[in-house]
Amino acid sequence: MWFELVGRILWTSVKRLAIGLGSIAFLTGVATVIAIRYAGDDDFAYSPPATLINDITQMNATYVARAITPHSVEEVSAALRETTGPVSIGGGRFSQGGQVSYPDSVHLDMRGMNRVLDLDVAGKRITVEPGITWREIQEAIDPHGLSVRIMQTYSNFTVGGSLSVNVHGRYIGEGPLVRSVESIKLVLADGSVVAASPTENSELFFGAIGGYGGLGVIVQATLRLADDVKIERRDAVMPVTEYRAHFMREIRDDRDVIFHNADLYPPAFTRARDVSWYRTDKPVTIEDRMNPAHAEYVWQPRLEKLIASYGAGKWLRERVLEPIYYSFPRVAWRNWEASYDVAELEPASRADYTYGLREYFVPVARFDEFVPRMRDIFAKNHADILNVSVRHALPDPGTLLAWAREEVFAFVVYYRQGRSAADVEGVRAWSLEMIDAATALGGAYYLPYQIFESPEQFRAAYPRADEYFALKARVDPENRFRNRLWQQLYPPNIDSLETMRRTTKNYYRGEEQTFLTVPEWYLVWNPVEYADFLASGKSPSDFPFFASIGEYWTQYDRVTKIAAESRYPRNGQYLTMLRVIGASTTFEYILKGCYETTLGRLTRWTAGGADTEEDKLIQRAHRAYAEFIFGSAWYNYDFTHWLGELWHGTPFFGAHFIRKLERRLFFTLEYGGKAAYARLIGFASHTTYGIQDDHIYFTVRAPADDAPNPPGVETVRDDGRTRVVTSLRWGPFTHAAVALAGGGFDFVDVAGNRRIVVTAVGPRDREPAAAGVTELFESRVLSSADLERHVLLVETRSLAALLRELAGSEVRLEHVYDY
Ligand SMILES: Cc1cc2nc3c(=O)[nH]c(=O)nc-3n(C[C@H](O)[C@H](O)[C@H](O)COP(=O)(O)OP(=O)(O)OC[C@H]3O[C@@H](n4cnc5c(N)ncnc54)[C@H](O)[C@@H]3O)c2cc1C
Repeated sequence: MWFELVGRILWTSVKRLAIGLGSIAFLTGVATVIAIRYAGDDDFAYSPPATLINDITQMNATYVARAITPHSVEEVSAALRETTGPVSIGGGRFSQGGQVSYPDSVHLDMRGMNRVLDLDVAGKRITVEPGITWREIQEAIDPHGLSVRIMQTYSNFTVGGSLSVNVHGRYIGEGPLVRSVESIKLVLADGSVVAASPTENSELFFGAIGGYGGLGVIVQATLRLADDVKIERRDAVMPVTEYRAHFMREIRDDRDVIFHNADLYPPAFTRARDVSWYRTDKPVTIEDRMNPAHAEYVWQPRLEKLIASYGAGKWLRERVLEPIYYSFPRVAWRNWEASYDVAELEPASRADYTYGLREYFVPVARFDEFVPRMRDIFAKNHADILNVSVRHALPDPGTLLAWAREEVFAFVVYYRQGRSAADVEGVRAWSLEMIDAATALGGAYYLPYQIFESPEQFRAAYPRADEYFALKARVDPENRFRNRLWQQLYPPNIDSLETMRRTTKNYYRGEEQTFLTVPEWYLVWNPVEYADFLASGKSPSDFPFFASIGEYWTQYDRVTKIAAESRYPRNGQYLTMLRVIGASTTFEYILKGCYETTLGRLTRWTAGGADTEEDKLIQRAHRAYAEFIFGSAWYNYDFTHWLGELWHGTPFFGAHFIRKLERRLFFTLEYGGKAAYARLIGFASHTTYGIQDDHIYFTVRAPADDAPNPPGVETVRDDGRTRVVTSLRWGPFTHAAVALAGGGFDFVDVAGNRRIVVTAVGPRDREPAAAGVTELFESRVLSSADLERHVLLVETRSLAALLRELAGSEVRLEHVYDY
C-alpha cells in the first residue's frame, strides 16, 4: 500500500513539475515575443554615415573612405589631384553589383552636377552635366516638343551612369545609347580634362561609353534628341515560336513604331505579347505630357508580389489582368511613355527579399535557339522569374565593351530573390548558365547587375576587353578608377591581394555580424559579471537576473536596428540564433530570479549569509564557465564534470546543512538541465551549420618586412609588409589583435571588412575618443553602478591605434567582435 501512496505522490509531483515548467516555458515564449517587440527605446536612432554606399538592391553596402559631391568640372579635377588611392564614381546607384563603390575609395557622387548647359532646340541637341537624370532633361525639353532619343524604360537614371553602361531602351531603329551621343568630356586620373567624340580622341570616346567608370569621370555630354510625338499602343499575343518572324515582318522596319517590347510569360515562356507604340494623329487618351513625378504607387508593388509569390499570380497576370489592361485604347505623348518612375517597382521593404534584373543579348538569327535553353535553365534552377522582356537593338558603332556587336535581341530578366547567401548562390547558378548559353550563340550578357561571372566568361562575351584594358593601363596607370566590377575583371586586380582574399575559403564574413554578435557576447559578459559578483561574497539572490534579461533584449533591438538601417543583407540564420539564445536565457533567468529571491534567499538566511562548500564550488564552476565561453561555444562546456565534483568532492553533511542540501539540489538541477540542453543545441548547431571554422582571416601591415607575428598569428600570404594572416576566432582574436597593435602592426581589413565593433568598459563619463571611432551606444554594467560599456564602431585602419590607446587607459578593452 505504502509504495502505491509514494508512487502517487511522485507521479503527482512530476505532473505538477511538468505543468509548472510548461507554464514557465509558455510565459517565457510570451515574454520573448513581447521583448522582441518592445525592448528597444524609440529614442534610439541610427543613421549610417555618408561613407556607407549602397545600391538599389541594398545588397552591396560598402564603406568608402570619403564621399565627395563635386559641383563643377574644376571640383572633379581638384578631387583627383588632391587625393591618392582608389576612386569610385556613383550616379543614380541603380546598378546592382557594387559598380559604384570600392572599399576605402574616394567616392565621387556625381548627382551634384545636374545642370542643363545648353539646349539647341532647332538642332535637337542638348549638353548636360552627368548627374542630371533623364527626368530632369525631360522637364527641360518637353516644353520645346522634344524628347530623349535613347534611354531606359525608367527615367530616374543619371546620364553619366547611363553612358558608362551604354544603356538601351525599347526604341525601334535604335540600339545602344552611344548611337545618340555627339561628344563627351572626361576628367582623367591626373585631373586633366579631355573632349572626346567619334572623331576626336575616339578611343577614349568608345572606351568611356560602356566603360563603367574605369577610364575617367564623364563630366559633360552632348546628346541628340528626337521629337515628342503622339503615340498609340497596340498589342498582339502569339506563340513565342512565331515572334521572331512577326518582329522582322511587322516591327523592325516600320518607321512609325517608336517603342516596342515583347513580354514572355513565365514559367512556360511559350507565349509572347508584342506591345508596340505607333506614331499617331489621334487625340490623346492620357492628357498628362509626362508621368507624375513622386507619385505614390499602391497596387503595382502588391501585384508584383502576387506574381512573384504564386503560380496562380503568374497565371492571373497572363490570362486575366493583362488582357483587360491592354484592351483599353491608349494614346499618349512619347515623353509620357518615357517618364516612368522606378518607384512603381519598389516593394514596401527589401529586408527579406529583393528584385533584380539580368540581361542577355543574342544575335537576332539565334532567337529561336535561345528561348528553349533559357526555359530549361530557369526550370532546372527553380528561378523565381517575374518577367522576360524582349527588346531589339541595332549594332553598336564601335564601343570597346559593346554588348551589341551585331543586331541583337535583348532578354531582360526580372526576378525575385531572397537575401541569404544560399539565395545569392541560387541566382548565381542560373545566371552563369545563362551567360554561357548566350555567349555560345555569339551573344553577350549585361554588366550593370550582380557580378558573378568569371574573367573567362567576360572575355567570351566582350572580345575587345583587352583593348579596353590596354587603354585603361595607359590613361589610368595607377589604377585609380575602381569598383567591384573592375575588381573582379581587370587583370591587374585579379592577381591582387583582394583576389587572394576572395579565393581564401572563409576569408569574408558578413559585416552585419560584427553588430549582431554584440548581444551574443553579452551572454559571455553577463556570466563573467555573475562570477565576479559571487566571488565578491555577495548573495546570488541579489544578482540582477531580470535586469539582465532586459539588457540582452535592448542590445538585440539596437544592433538589429543598426544592421537594418545600414541596409546590410538580412542575416536570418543569425537573427534566429539570437532569438533562440535570448529566449533560453530569458527562461533560465526567470526561473533563477524567482527561485533565488525566494527559496534561495531563505536558505542563505539559515546559513547566516555564509558561503557553504557548495556555494564555493558553484562560484568556481561559474568562473570556469565564464572563462571557457570566451574562446569556445557554450554548449561544449563540460557541465557534468562539475556535477561530479559536487557529488564526489564535497561532503554531504556539515555546517548549515539546509543551505548545503538546497545548493546541492539547485546546482544539480541547473547544471543537469544545462548539460542536457547543451547536447541538444550542440547537435542542432552541428547539423545546421556543420563544423564551424574556428579561424578568422585578416590583413595587416607590419612595422617592418622582417617583424615577426605575435604568438597565435600565422601568415597565409606575405606581400612584403602587407600580410594576410589568421588566428583563432573569438577571445583569442581579441588577444591577437592587442598583441599585433602592441607590436606596431596596423590592420587593413578584418575578414574583408573595413569596420568592426569593439566594446570597452570604464568609469561613467570617460569616453574613449579617437579618429575613426564612433560610439554606437552605451550599455549598463549591471553589477556595478560606477562602470559602463561603450559599444564602438571602429574603422579597421584605426583599430590598432585605439587598442594601443586603451592599453594605458582607465577605460579597458573588453572585446573585438570578429563577425
Ligand atoms: C529598375 C531598373 C530598370 C532598368 N532598366 C533598364 C533598361 O531599360 N535598359 C538598360 O539598358 N538598363 C536598365 N537598367 C540598368 C541601368 O540602366 C543601369 O544600372 C544604369 O547604370 C543606371 O544608371 P545610374 O545613374 O543609376 O548609374 P550608376 O549605377 O550610379 O552607375 C553605373 C556605372 O556608371 C559609372 N558612372 C556613373 N556616373 C559616372 C560618370 N559621371 N563618369 C564615369 N562613370 C560614371 C559608375 O561608376 C558605375 O560603374 C535598369 C535598372 C533598374 C534598377
